[in-house]
Amino acid sequence: MSTPTGTHGLADSYGRVATDLRVSLTDRCNLRCNYCMPAEGLEWLPTEETLTDDEVVRLVRIGVEQLGIREVRFTGGEPLLRRGLPGIVARTKALDPSPEVSLTTNALGLSRTADALAAAGLDRVNVSLDTIRRDLFHQITRRDRLDDVLAGLAAAKSAGLGPVKVNAVLLRGVNDRHAAELLRFCLEGDYQLRIIEQMPLDAQHNWSREKMVTAQEIFASLEAEFTLTPDPEHRGSAPAETFLVDGGPAKVGVIASVTRPFCGDCDRVRLTADGQVRNCLFAREESDLRAALRGTATDEEIADQWRLAMITKRPGHGIDDTTFLQPTRPMSAIGG
Ligand code: SAM
Ligand code: SF4
Repeated sequence: MSTPTGTHGLADSYGRVATDLRVSLTDRCNLRCNYCMPAEGLEWLPTEETLTDDEVVRLVRIGVEQLGIREVRFTGGEPLLRRGLPGIVARTKALDPSPEVSLTTNALGLSRTADALAAAGLDRVNVSLDTIRRDLFHQITRRDRLDDVLAGLAAAKSAGLGPVKVNAVLLRGVNDRHAAELLRFCLEGDYQLRIIEQMPLDAQHNWSREKMVTAQEIFASLEAEFTLTPDPEHRGSAPAETFLVDGGPAKVGVIASVTRPFCGDCDRVRLTADGQVRNCLFAREESDLRAALRGTATDEEIADQWRLAMITKRPGHGIDDTTFLQPTRPMSAIGG
């Protein structure tokens, strides 16, 4: 069997090996976070171009059995919109070796599905929540659904899908003054907060470095109310730099993708809802595994194509390069 570190895994030309697969199950969403997509939504992928449940599971199986994938995260768009999600989770978890399976979600409807997902074998969830203020939540997501998210978070915890992480993006002049409030909410609920620097991946192409709230600013606002000390636990390839809050054991993470990039330790590879492999969030090339799947390709041929797609992975995202070009697909269509 292939190993994550063996020559048959998903190695790139800089010595990194991808073992963490992010699968976007749909590009559709029931929120409209203004840093992610426009109010009117996007032109969604036609159903026939979206992988079926069987196709998703086949690609994940090839990743796990032949390419050393050890962690699978389902995302989107909003993955809870995918009816077959519990089945996809169960079939992924049943693979040999059984990967760690997690979900990144806005939590709408999670209060109804958390138990079924846990029963299917889901290990953990990350819930996106940028504010606990109803008016600001409505302003950012363009939907008045804060209560559903809070119910989803609580259900995830009681279903044992922990440690439940909360992902937040801070927006200048909107919720950036409330980072400490969000951390307090997470400490009280036993959720682990991670604050993410905004990246140039919005569909509207409105991102600018000046508007982005930097890791330095995030630290400053948290440290106004809490003492943060570096987490003694080894970071490995985790994107979040974690800190003990007031001496621990509670932690907070900061994902400084732009100002402190961690590309050198990246162990991720992504699969879009229409079956394209992307070796980086910021990649401009994709490899069409759906065409191979729907043709006559064997599992081995698909695995070879996937390995080949890793070779062009760049050493870094290059946001600071003058030649940087935002990828054509927005975050919601790549899978965050
Ligand atoms: N809909 C699900 C959710 O919101 O969790 C999954 C997909 S969403 C694209 C995944 C994560 O990406 C969310 O935590 C969201 O806040 C984050 N995100 C979206 N656009 C972003 C951007 N431009 N920069 C940084 N994070 C972003
Ligand atoms: Fe939907 Fe997630 Fe994008 Fe918000 S961040 S619009 S919840 S895909």
